[in-house]
Amino acid sequence: MSHASAAQPVAVDHGQHPLPSYLDASNLGPWGNYLQQVDRVIPHLGSLARWAETLKRPKRVLIVDVPIHMDNGTVAHFEGYRVQHNVSRGPGKGGVRFHQDVTLSEVMALSAWMSVKNAAVNVPYGGAKGGIRVDPKKLSLGELERMTRRYTSEIGIIIGPNKDIPAPDVNTNEQIMAWMMDTYSMNTGSTSTGVVTGKPIDLGGSLGRREATGRGVYTVGCEAAHHLGMEIKGARVAVQGFGNVGGVAGKLFAEAGARIVAVQDHSGTIYQGAGLDVPALLQHVLETGGVGGFAKAEVIANEAFWDVDCDILIPAALEQQITADNAGRIKARMIIEGANGPTTPAADDILQSRDILVLPDVIANAGGVTVSYFEWVQDFSSFFWDEEEINARLVKIMKHAFAAVWDVAQDQKVSLRTATFIVACKRILHTRELRGLYP
Ligand code: NAD
Repeated sequence: MSHASAAQPVAVDHGQHPLPSYLDASNLGPWGNYLQQVDRVIPHLGSLARWAETLKRPKRVLIVDVPIHMDNGTVAHFEGYRVQHNVSRGPGKGGVRFHQDVTLSEVMALSAWMSVKNAAVNVPYGGAKGGIRVDPKKLSLGELERMTRRYTSEIGIIIGPNKDIPAPDVNTNEQIMAWMMDTYSMNTGSTSTGVVTGKPIDLGGSLGRREATGRGVYTVGCEAAHHLGMEIKGARVAVQGFGNVGGVAGKLFAEAGARIVAVQDHSGTIYQGAGLDVPALLQHVLETGGVGGFAKAEVIANEAFWDVDCDILIPAALEQQITADNAGRIKARMIIEGANGPTTPAADDILQSRDILVLPDVIANAGGVTVSYFEWVQDFSSFFWDEEEINARLVKIMKHAFAAVWDVAQDQKVSLRTATFIVACKRILHTRELRGLYP
């Protein structure tokens, strides 16, 4: 009996086994964008390209019904998802998003970008993501807790400290992670801090986790600015999304002497050519929930955000914000993707033709998952590090990963996005080849 060896070619017959329609590249949502990004990397994968089909299919997709009692006595049903895109390199890892526009296409794409991101910074995880299609701002605190707990119970069959570890994303925070950890622990019968990251410090959370994504954005931004000969001091920065990622990145750039000239969030767009007072703006957002109504700035039309004169643009809100429609108007020399999937492939081409450097999400916002990895390691060993050590390790990993990607981009004359996909997809597919196919 012959045994299939790792070196044998893998035949994928697209004619007989077409992709299910929801996985198709003609899907115009985030998943379609991701598939186009994969197609761009395949020619650079050498012999590993024979496994590339692995990247185009999520390993596991779970859709759950989340029914809860509402405060007014009715029962409401919400649709929830958990997608594990790839677990070749380790357990699934990725956030949970509560947003009214969450779709399966979006969660699949976000889970796939997590696989790429985790491999790009070489943390021992696969990629996963979850979400509930809900506007959490319309729920009371009690409803939010009941929905979070029921969702956690429903996805409890596939998550776990060694299986798949959720974390915060848009509209989810430390409190929601605490409820998820408690629900999972109640269902399994023992306190399991390592099942989620981004927890409160008193429940096994890590110092520096809240700021980690923004700190990573700032770190790679400084590295790239150095390559471009751009000074951070005095640079004009525009930020879309002023939450966990955009708010912290904006603060760090401002502290380094940059001028934050424009900020847009769900509540509007504000401009101040001399540079916004960032600490006062952060306080305003904390008190009111958005940048709208901030006194010390001019209000501009949302669409005018893309025309703002700036050196650095940081999209840190949602997907598909930079499109073929606005990419030609952007004035920045460098775009740092704090958000996941903010730039469509068509916009990527326009930005590249205009010589605007794009630091892609899969490296630029990897700081969050890097410190999530530190949190998970600390939970397993029940030994906690100080913030200085965490930040130093984070900066080291981010700089190292960015340098590797930069070199590949220079050597192979490809965009930083394709270079990051080359580094990451080779790592993922190499482990796929080493492990072989079961059974
Ligand atoms: P958040 O909920 O803290 O903030 C989201 C921000 O986006 C808010 O300022 C909100 O007002 C703004 N926003 C929402 N809709 C908008 C719209 N239509 N136009 C403009 N602004 C809008 O979320 P976050 O954690 O900062 O996540 C932001 C992005 O960063 C997401 O793409 C997320 O996937 C990505 N990300 C987050 C982390 C993390 O650690 N939190 C890690 C990696 C990537």
